[in-house]
Amino acid sequence: SNTLDIQQIRAQFPVLHQEVNGKPLVYFDNAATTQKPQVVIDALDNYYKGYNSNIHRGAHALADKATQAFEETRKTAAEFLNAETPEQVIFTKGTTDGINLIASSYGRQNIQAGDEIIVSTLEHHSNIVPWQMLCQEKGATLKVIPINAKGELIMEEFEKLLTANTKIVAVNHASNALGTVNPIAEMIEKAHTVGAVVVVDGAQSASHFDIDVQALGVDFFVTSAHKVYGPTGIGLLYGKRVFLEEMPPYQGGGEMIKEVSFDGTTFNEIPYKFEAGTPNIADVIAFDAAMKWVQDLGKEAIRAHEAELLAYANEKLSEIPGIIFYGTAAEKVSVLSFGLEGVHPFDIGMMLDARGVAVRTGHHCTQPLMKHLGIEGTVRASFSVYNTKEEIDTLVQGVARVAKMMA
Ligand code: PMP
Repeated sequence: SNTLDIQQIRAQFPVLHQEVNGKPLVYFDNAATTQKPQVVIDALDNYYKGYNSNIHRGAHALADKATQAFEETRKTAAEFLNAETPEQVIFTKGTTDGINLIASSYGRQNIQAGDEIIVSTLEHHSNIVPWQMLCQEKGATLKVIPINAKGELIMEEFEKLLTANTKIVAVNHASNALGTVNPIAEMIEKAHTVGAVVVVDGAQSASHFDIDVQALGVDFFVTSAHKVYGPTGIGLLYGKRVFLEEMPPYQGGGEMIKEVSFDGTTFNEIPYKFEAGTPNIADVIAFDAAMKWVQDLGKEAIRAHEAELLAYANEKLSEIPGIIFYGTAAEKVSVLSFGLEGVHPFDIGMMLDARGVAVRTGHHCTQPLMKHLGIEGTVRASFSVYNTKEEIDTLVQGVARVAKMMA
């Protein structure tokens, strides 16, 4: 029902073709990080072998080539997010770094005692802790959007939380623990009616759907390359120009300045104002290859394949006695969180690993959500474009075996 040739896609991922514990690897930990296609690995290799050099300042051919490749990624990223201009894309270390940049710069500049910041029950720790730290520093209050039994945000409650005191709403586009896709377009619209700024954590969405920051009207959007088939240690922060230009720098150093004297410093324009020091040049360049690879496949085709896998896994796993699903939202990304009655998630993970199946177990950096669900953790299988139904069969056999052993 989709146009992708999955075997041809798999062939582009060297890491997938190995045995783990004597069994063919089944990699279902894609929400933690996706594997990298050969084009991304080649981009890293080509850079280090062919034109490694520092960017922006070099008066030589290699530095020019590296600078061009680096800035090419910014253009690609702007297209990837449909940003108005490339300079509204700031390179960060990842989602966590992007959120911290916003909290430290925009947050410190704009939040005062008595202000309110709204997050949701579904947030990853990286979209909770920086806001908590900011609230503590400023005497502001953190408010939390509750969820229903399916793991969906309760929108009426969100609307009740929005007041003239709300200054920031920070919410994920999709939950890494339950897979819930949040109605961010509607949330942005609602938040704007009280004058709040919206930060969207796109760590779990950028690999699955087309992101259009302009259509969403989002104020800030952050994501990580490593979850979009790109390298680790690199991410994107998109911001509306008006905010980025007003915000103070996050870190001081080289690159981010216009002029430095011992009497004072003037800062560079965006994006450089936020990119102090030698950046992660190699990984930025390789991220370009990752985004182009994704765009070539097409997110709609990727999402259709993943949705098919999710539905298949749901159907097959639900036949296992004692299975418990966490998060049954109407709209989900390909993240399946589950458990077995009376069995610790970690034990399920270990027994799956023995069969070559890589899943994640535990709290998934969402301890407040786990507390709300009254559980210690879940087993999470998350599917990507290179996964197959045959691999899901292996997962299901493994879980069924654990269920039988423990029954
Ligand atoms: N938010 C969500 C929803 C995530 O899934 C993750 C990664 N698990 C993060 C934030 C943090 O991303 P990173 O570790 O790449 O900074």
